[in-house]
Amino acid sequence: MMMSKNEDNNSTRRNFISKGLRLGLLTAIGGTAIAKSLVDEEMVELMDTDGNLIKVPVAKVEEHSSLKGDDYNVREGFPNKKFVMVVDLSRCRNAKQCVKSCNKNHFITGDNAWLKIYNMQDNETSSPYWMPQLCHHCDNPPCVKVCPVDATFKRRDGIVLIDNERCIGCRFCMAACPYSVRVFNWNEPQQGEMSEITMTMEHGDQMDHSAGYTPDYAGMPSVKGTVDKCDFCAHMVDQKLVPHCVAACPNNVYFFGDLYEDTVTNGDETYQLSKLLKDKAGYRLLEDLGTAPSVYYLPPKDRQQDYEVGLKYYTEFESVEKPGKS
Ligand code: SF4
Repeated sequence: MMMSKNEDNNSTRRNFISKGLRLGLLTAIGGTAIAKSLVDEEMVELMDTDGNLIKVPVAKVEEHSSLKGDDYNVREGFPNKKFVMVVDLSRCRNAKQCVKSCNKNHFITGDNAWLKIYNMQDNETSSPYWMPQLCHHCDNPPCVKVCPVDATFKRRDGIVLIDNERCIGCRFCMAACPYSVRVFNWNEPQQGEMSEITMTMEHGDQMDHSAGYTPDYAGMPSVKGTVDKCDFCAHMVDQKLVPHCVAACPNNVYFFGDLYEDTVTNGDETYQLSKLLKDKAGYRLLEDLGTAPSVYYLPPKDRQQDYEVGLKYYTEFESVEKPGKS
């Protein structure tokens, strides 16, 4: 089902997401949520430790502003977590809101986008479908193994990052990645407001550019002569928020969560990961290579539906997202 959203709707959705996702993520990425009673009017669904969805009053859910505890280390990430993403190909209509939000919030342009949507057709007789592609945050990442200066690394929570102050631009990692998701900054990145020393992030945090690189804002600011890629929005996850692409998608294509909690959410829906993958025949891309990706796909069933609508978005997006026009 295609949902057309205007800016007002997006604003409303963001407000909802801001509230809903924080609550959903309490369980999906392992934050602390304590339900005290079941008597208030406004309820929210949370998953208990047995994997059952229970309804609790919103007013009785305790929130903590960050996942960061005493044992948090920005290069090590979070202990006892393994972040994963599920991409439901049957829902993707190429609305491109995920790409736009990713580009905007990471201050990158279309050419160097970390998230791309491909027009796929498996064989001559099958129907085409849309397929988002981003870093798979492999548990066994070949890109990390070939980096000669330890610029790219995997945190213990599974997020693969790039320290662009260490990166020497050799691009071995780009050659090693079987998913071709890394991009190289051949030129000075077009980052608009990034020229300011300090900027305010959408969620209220501030990043001080004069302080240089920090894995909290992985890959930012982009630097000429270095490699970039999707960072699973590590700075959002820290605050128990889902990545920008998940929040921006009007079709709820993306789910984000914690493998160890066995839970993923898109803000509107929360699922037990293992059941979702089993029920909907989830799979990982190029799994035979042994990369152990953290991104799962659900097959593009009903793929002919709305495909042409996506073509329209594709044409419109391409016409406005060229470098220099965004
Ligand atoms: Fe590295 Fe590519 Fe795997 Fe991302 S998808 S972790 S860049 S090998």
